[in-house]
Amino acid sequence: MKMVLATKNKNKLKEVSEFLAPHGIEVVSLLEFPDLPEIEEYGETFKENAIIKATEACMFTGLMALADDSGLEVDCLEGLPGVYSSRFAGEDKDDAANNKKLLELLEGVPAEQRAARFKCVMALATTECFVYTAEGACEGVIAEQPRGEGGFGYDPLFYLPEYGKTFAELDLEIKNKISHRARALTGVLDLLSDLEKMMEDEE
Ligand code: IMP
Repeated sequence: MKMVLATKNKNKLKEVSEFLAPHGIEVVSLLEFPDLPEIEEYGETFKENAIIKATEACMFTGLMALADDSGLEVDCLEGLPGVYSSRFAGEDKDDAANNKKLLELLEGVPAEQRAARFKCVMALATTECFVYTAEGACEGVIAEQPRGEGGFGYDPLFYLPEYGKTFAELDLEIKNKISHRARALTGVLDLLSDLEKMMEDEE
């Protein structure tokens, strides 16, 4: 089975394709469709944005489409940066600037008040124009300073007390088992197996 992931983010593509490949699912990204105009994320929630992206990617490519909308919610910032995660410090979506802004806002906040979670909503749009969603979350703490070279986005600041590491220090194999995206993708696999059963019943 082949599907398009509604993103140009190579890190998201890597995480999603490594997760889905063992299940016989080939994932391509929007980098393979350079003529597709930029999809505007005008939704107010992760779910709305994921649905917008999956629907547009499906309509444009004619392929089953999967879209991830995700972000970081920090409790003491009342859930910010939330849906603004990628453009927290400005429209140029600069990871280093976003991390710097987050650290500045949390200056002097003690460890016990730095709880945060990554959230992810995956939307699956089928070529028959049905859209389904699955959600996942991963709890952590915002570190005092960036650590690690891997991953992307807020990974160097997202500390997992049970591993003693940030997401940027963790092997991708482990991130792909416990992350918000991995949990949402497990839901997507369930959706795909339900869809397969429905199609078999119809035959
Ligand atoms: P989106 O592409 O509009 O879904 O924006 C997601 C943004 O949330 C990214 O640009 C990152 O800033 C952040 N984000 C989402 N998932 C992760 C992750 O797994 N690690 C680090 N940052 C993430």
